[in-house]
Amino acid sequence: SCPIVALVGRPNVGKSTLFNRITRSRKALVDPTPGVTRDRHYDRVVWEDHPFILVDTGGIDDNPDDALVSHIREQALAAIDEADIILFLMDGRTGLTPADHAVVDILRRTDKPIFHVVNKIDGPEHEQELLAPFYELGIERLWALSAEHIYGFRTLMDALGTVL
Ligand code: GDP
Ligand code: MG
Repeated sequence: SCPIVALVGRPNVGKSTLFNRITRSRKALVDPTPGVTRDRHYDRVVWEDHPFILVDTGGIDDNPDDALVSHIREQALAAIDEADIILFLMDGRTGLTPADHAVVDILRRTDKPIFHVVNKIDGPEHEQELLAPFYELGIERLWALSAEHIYGFRTLMDALGTVL
């Protein structure tokens, strides 16, 4: 059957940008205001003969700062339940945050494939510098990505293809 791939991460890390990139659509609203994606978006994708359902989870908080950690915990738990594969996005420009730590700990509970993606790495120049703080998470493999400028996209999608 068709695997479900869920995009998980704090508001504003670039989930909807990646959703649109993968689905080649503009279904998900990209907005600089954190928490603007209020619904879930689903789309069926075929990536090199592998079909899957991509789910973009949105921020549902009116006040994302206050409720952020509890919201993102719920989002991560729901993804563990409902998805087969998780793309967990972080923001290489903002750097590592406590909410990222909290979610990574929750995601350790599952054996499902998880890709820990550091987005907004817009080219190779500052890649190592921007990735460095995230190694504190103790995750072996981090995926550098620019959902907006497509850097790292092919590498990530090839890896995703191996678990579809
Ligand atoms: P979401 O809340 O996680 O869905 O994030 P969005 O996809 O709505 O993106 C939030 C903001 O980050 C928007 O202003 C995007 O243009 C910007 N953004 C997304 N991906 C990238 C990226 O790879 N590089 C840069 N520089 N900005 C990005
Ligand atoms: Mg969004």
